Amino acid sequence: MDRRNFLQRSAALAALPLIPSLANAGARGAAKTSGLSSQTITVNGDRLNGWLAAFDRIGRTPTGINRVAYSEGDLAGRAFTLDLFKQSGLSPVIDAAGNIVARVPGSNPALKPIVIGSHVDSVTDGGNFDGPVGSFGAIEVARTLAERRMQLAHPLDVVVWQNEEGGTYGSRLWAGLYSEADLDKVARSGKTIREGIGLIGGDVAKLASVRRKEGDVACYLELHIEQGGLLEKASKKIGVVQGIVGLRWFEITITGFSNHAGATPMDQRQDAMLAAARFTVAVNDAIRRVPGRQVATVGRVNVTPNTTNVIPGQVVLTVDLRDIEQATIERFTQQFEQLGREIGEATGTQFKFARLTDSKPALADPRVMDWVQQSADTLKFTHQRMPSGAGHDAQEMSHLGPMGMIFVPSVGGISHSPREFSHAADITNGANVLLHAVIAADKSLR
Ligand SMILES: [Zn+2]
Repeated sequence: MDRRNFLQRSAALAALPLIPSLANAGARGAAKTSGLSSQTITVNGDRLNGWLAAFDRIGRTPTGINRVAYSEGDLAGRAFTLDLFKQSGLSPVIDAAGNIVARVPGSNPALKPIVIGSHVDSVTDGGNFDGPVGSFGAIEVARTLAERRMQLAHPLDVVVWQNEEGGTYGSRLWAGLYSEADLDKVARSGKTIREGIGLIGGDVAKLASVRRKEGDVACYLELHIEQGGLLEKASKKIGVVQGIVGLRWFEITITGFSNHAGATPMDQRQDAMLAAARFTVAVNDAIRRVPGRQVATVGRVNVTPNTTNVIPGQVVLTVDLRDIEQATIERFTQQFEQLGREIGEATGTQFKFARLTDSKPALADPRVMDWVQQSADTLKFTHQRMPSGAGHDAQEMSHLGPMGMIFVPSVGGISHSPREFSHAADITNGANVLLHAVIAADKSLR
């Protein structure tokens, strides 16, 4: 071997991850994941769940967790989180959008970063698991890699997004999916987004500095609680998320004729309320008649004149329609419009459809789904593929690179409530799947 070859070979060896003997090092985690080989690297689940237990005191009020973006509770939660980054040997910075970001350098600086994270803000009277599980899980994954002296080839960015619950602002600002008017919207805390970003250490004047474009992210992975009851019902440990469902909101105006409730015979009425009631039932029947996870909800009804002794002349109602397939959304849109025509004809009323919101499904990348599923298999966790009915920062990140999410069970399917709960063992499982999926992504994407 000449000197040049020797140097090349040495460099190649140095780039390999340094894996110390894990026979004893992994004992603590391995005890909870029986059947694993001692070579299987695992996170410290006790540490992760200890952080979550300590975090439960922050923003806690008699009615639930209150860490609404830019509130006192949010500021306290972010301070706690920054401290966790530092304790874990990470060097966090607040980017111009107000996100907390720490980069772990990779051995190949030419590669784009693998990004992992979630959020720590909450809804009003929420729980302690929606967001913190994935945020602290990501910190724990980075810490575990460092403790095992495993350096990825890719840089690893650990991110805690700001104001997820108010409209995924932190990640939207990365993806450039916002308007100036969005920055003037008033958040739940009473502050504008613009004011809030300043308050948490961002800089609205420098938002261009956080803007990423497609391909700037090697891969995005987010661990999150399911917020529904499918995993619990199916007795599965891990949800391999297929994507975030698309959503279409309709506002439907049904016009009939207001007339005397006593003097108008039943066969001479144009009752908008009757049409609305038939339509509500018909929408529900249509959605349930075919297999699939599509959902539709008539959620708001305004009746005019809304008086006891007058036949309703007009009803304005909303339909919220969601599915992971855009084609399904289009198909039901046509079906609802057809139902409107038929019920209108039968009741002497007219249906007019308007769209309030239209967001396309954000699909997980098939490769990322495979890494998550393979990691669950390696760790011997049962799993199933499933869509996310709720919105997440991952939907914005899908515009920047391949995206995937890992769900862990929510007890009773309850979320956005003080009764939100996930078992410590399930959270540890999720963090371990995240760890292994990150390692798999790092190997596959080189
Ligand atoms: Zn969340």
